[in-house]
Amino acid sequence: MRKYVIMGIQGSGKGTQSQMLESGLDLVHIGVGDILRWNVQNHTKMGAQVRRVMAAGELVGDDLVESVVRDRLTQHDWNYGFIIDGFPRNRRQAEFFLESYDIDGVIYLDLPDSEVRRRVLNRRLCSSCGMNYNLLGNTPAVPGRCDFCGGELVTREDDTEEALAVRLKDYHEKTNPVLDVFRRKEYVFTVDARPAPEVVQEQIRTRLGLPPDSPGTQRPILRAVEDDPVERSGIRPVYGP
Ligand code: AMP
Repeated sequence: MRKYVIMGIQGSGKGTQSQMLESGLDLVHIGVGDILRWNVQNHTKMGAQVRRVMAAGELVGDDLVESVVRDRLTQHDWNYGFIIDGFPRNRRQAEFFLESYDIDGVIYLDLPDSEVRRRVLNRRLCSSCGMNYNLLGNTPAVPGRCDFCGGELVTREDDTEEALAVRLKDYHEKTNPVLDVFRRKEYVFTVDARPAPEVVQEQIRTRLGLPPDSPGTQRPILRAVEDDPVERSGIRPVYGP
């Protein structure tokens, strides 16, 4: 069983690297932002509560986010472990997390601020399955369409200059200190996030002593399921195919 947290500034590749780690290792990728976005896209009650806050680039309330994480982890579908991305984002969340779960390591994707803007403003997301793209490198075969499900690629509502400024400020003020909490426990593996995704992945796996990645195994993050009320609630993203 392997339990990891992945941290890093906006655009550092947390989602991409988590998806790559998920493949072949049977780790479950829990993207807190993905779960919240699923709720917004699917017009759930939670989605209505968080939409405005997310679009402005602000952090959602701790109580709500902690309950999302608790509910998601309570499902225990992570027999081989999990990788959690987007949580914790401040000291309170870090304390909640450390009280409730023991983890094997924190992967810190280190990216200079100068690179963030360029990456984030070129990011695209499949509106249907949540797959990440970037117009700088990871482009889809058909422009504007997801390679996996054919869904429409959109810009995240919070990937604007204004929202990015708010998110970066929060990151430096609130999320960076979380690394110090983890560092005190000697959990943190720092990885240079500037190279191509495959290179970063290789570095992560080497540092964590994990087997190498098999190429071409990236999978979608979320898939909306019509029939299952648990999955429809958005608390349980579907990993597949
Ligand atoms: P992300 O996909 O991780 O960039 O998250 C997108 C947005 O979801 C953030 O800008 C916040 O509005 C919200 N969010 C995600 N994770 C958290 C968290 N741990 N605490 C508070 N808000 C969060």
